[in-house]
Amino acid sequence: MSTPHTAPQTPPTEIESRESLFEGVRAELEKYLEPGQIEMVHRAFLFGAEAHKEQKRRSGEPYITHPLAVAQIMGTMRFDATTLVAAILHDVVEDTSVTKEQLAAEFGEEVMELVDGVTKLTQITFESKAQAEAENFRKMLLAMVRDIRIMLIKLADRLHNMRTLGFMRPDKRRRIARETLDIYVPIASRLGLNAMRLELEDLGFAALYPDRHRVLSEAIKKARGNRREIVTKIESSIVERLGLDGLGSARVQGREKHIYSIYQKMRQKGLPFSEVFDVYAFRIVVDTVDMCYRVLGAVHNLYKPVPGRFKDYIAIPKANGYQSLHTVLFGPYGVPIEVQIRTEDMDCVAEAGVAAHWLYKGGEDSSNNFGTHFRVREWMRSVLEMQQSAGNSL
Ligand code: MN
Repeated sequence: MSTPHTAPQTPPTEIESRESLFEGVRAELEKYLEPGQIEMVHRAFLFGAEAHKEQKRRSGEPYITHPLAVAQIMGTMRFDATTLVAAILHDVVEDTSVTKEQLAAEFGEEVMELVDGVTKLTQITFESKAQAEAENFRKMLLAMVRDIRIMLIKLADRLHNMRTLGFMRPDKRRRIARETLDIYVPIASRLGLNAMRLELEDLGFAALYPDRHRVLSEAIKKARGNRREIVTKIESSIVERLGLDGLGSARVQGREKHIYSIYQKMRQKGLPFSEVFDVYAFRIVVDTVDMCYRVLGAVHNLYKPVPGRFKDYIAIPKANGYQSLHTVLFGPYGVPIEVQIRTEDMDCVAEAGVAAHWLYKGGEDSSNNFGTHFRVREWMRSVLEMQQSAGNSL
């Protein structure tokens, strides 16, 4: 019996297991992309899986699981199909024999430019924190105005690497964690990517100071139990008061400080854990700016405000575009209560920063990115202007 003369092919079982890797991303993309766009991302996945097929992650998984995870992160932020294609292919020029020209021929100039931008960012080495802060930083930010998506892919790349840091050698783990805290956290902060910043900080802290992280998380867990009753009591008093004032539609949520910000505050102010942690913090989200000020009046009526602690970031937004009213109240049993008040729109910007522009696109025709790009460019321009006029403070 003779064997048929066919070109060597990937065996079917391997194709099947490859396809199963894509399922998570597909499920995310089906929430907001057209079938044709998902197919394009899928084609990028097949191309990337083939290019990286000889490589494995330290965890032993096929390498493509990493760029796929990066695409998944960007999918939850509702990025356009072109950005997702570039996210899946972000390491092919750096790590495989695929060239920029091939990428442009297969997926177009825009994808090639994005991947090239990420590759160049990866190659910048920061000699020191001071240098990175002083000159490269501003230049980089300015260069990014051309296409902020390059930096967003890089940040998502770093986030996934931080999530999977456990597989690295301890010395490498510490170096990457240090770099994350020194370079990527400030960038995420400038771009207003608050949810991403908080995760990067907590992962960086855990990797850099595992013992301190463990002690502090245990302290938090213990303290949390003791607080629950007071949190519930304050929350229901606020809800009741708002109801009486005709502001019943406001969403009141208790929130907790993140571990890294507790650690930093203890260090910077030389305070014991209990003093930093014993602050009760709430966020109140409403529909309109007018309601923000009415809610402020209502809570000041309920508990006395601490003098000098009120800040109006609605009238004067922070340099990264953040808007909210902040106030501190004298709560029951003398506990301080920090309150943030903002609209749904402001809440979205507070969590996702510049990425909120993609999140927000909703009903818009997602094949046309012009609107988003225009808004993002305007946003970047205003951020840079505010940073200049504010003397670069954030
Ligand atoms: Mn990567």
